[in-house]
Amino acid sequence: MDATTAFRGLECLDCGATAPDGSYRCPDCGGLLRASYDLDAVPGADALDGRDPGPYRVAELLPFSRDHAVTMDEGATPATACPTLADEFGVDELLVKDEGRNPTGAATDRGLSLAVTAARDGDAAAVALPTTGNGGQSAAAHAGRAGLDSHSFVPSRCPFVNKAMINVHGGDMNVVEGRYPDAVEAYEGGREDEWTPVGPASPYRREGLKGIYFEVAATLSWSAPDALVVPTGHGTALAAIHAAATQLADAGVVDETPRLYAAQPTGCAPVVDAVADGKVSPEEQPDSIVGSLEVPDPVLGDRAAAAVRESDGEGVAVDDDDALAAAVDAAGDTGLEISATGGVGVAAARELADLGAFDGDDAVVVVNPVAGGKENDVLRSHLMSRGV
Ligand SMILES: [Zn+2]
Repeated sequence: MDATTAFRGLECLDCGATAPDGSYRCPDCGGLLRASYDLDAVPGADALDGRDPGPYRVAELLPFSRDHAVTMDEGATPATACPTLADEFGVDELLVKDEGRNPTGAATDRGLSLAVTAARDGDAAAVALPTTGNGGQSAAAHAGRAGLDSHSFVPSRCPFVNKAMINVHGGDMNVVEGRYPDAVEAYEGGREDEWTPVGPASPYRREGLKGIYFEVAATLSWSAPDALVVPTGHGTALAAIHAAATQLADAGVVDETPRLYAAQPTGCAPVVDAVADGKVSPEEQPDSIVGSLEVPDPVLGDRAAAAVRESDGEGVAVDDDDALAAAVDAAGDTGLEISATGGVGVAAARELADLGAFDGDDAVVVVNPVAGGKENDVLRSHLMSRGV
């Protein structure tokens, strides 16, 4: 029999109120919601080992069972050992968790699978969100599968592949002149009451991204890596990985928790700044070629910064050129198609290695959130600067 969920419900992170299943924010105070679970229901590592790979290996800690979810088999992405990078960074093991292998080529598929499931369960006719691009593509794909309409608000700078594929999946797309905050403003002004929001504040988006950590822990025989480097926009993945690591430790499956590192482009690094300063201040003039991470006012910024601090990690900002060079060089050295977004993580890991943040026996995981092929124009343009 398939493992089933041990989901108990949603509660507010700010006021502690419980919220009905499917809620986007707290009905009392508007705060962010989190999911709670019966941790006693999680079996031991041996039992988990006997299950199929992928996020539902730890089905108890997800809000829906696999056979209930709107899913195209998201997750079960490889964490590929990269010995060349391990040597360069002076660590025992360097793994790239390649989220580009998801159905639409991005980690956003994991969260939108669950957010669209919740919307369908709530009898929604349509889902809607502002997005830097990948989230809109994931939403359009999953909404189409569930028989729902989707409405994505993307900035004009959003990659062409996202715009094309949102339409290919049958989604409605609103291209807003400018950058991500302009798309958020257009969404707020244009959204209709019957649209169910599936934006980054959705607790289901966060729950879906926990699978990244479940799978990393399984790859490492139910131990924690020493460090996880996470390219960060809204902070959703960082908050999710922190929640997953805490839950697996509290359930007695994994003994340790990893150090978490937030990696952002220098031109838009509010979470990195908040790790040091304690609270997110929106970036006044965001400017990065890595559009997926150009999020000046991250929804989960404070949560993500707190997760980094609690884990004894750090925030690392890297220049665009270093991120692009890291992505291109890693593609050459490892064969993996690292995106510019993932390059921010590789470049941050390199900087951490230079600063002495890693030990020689460390196992370090870098998350590549997006397939390199989805950002091929930015990567190719970097080669021009090398005369290629
Ligand atoms: Zn509340």
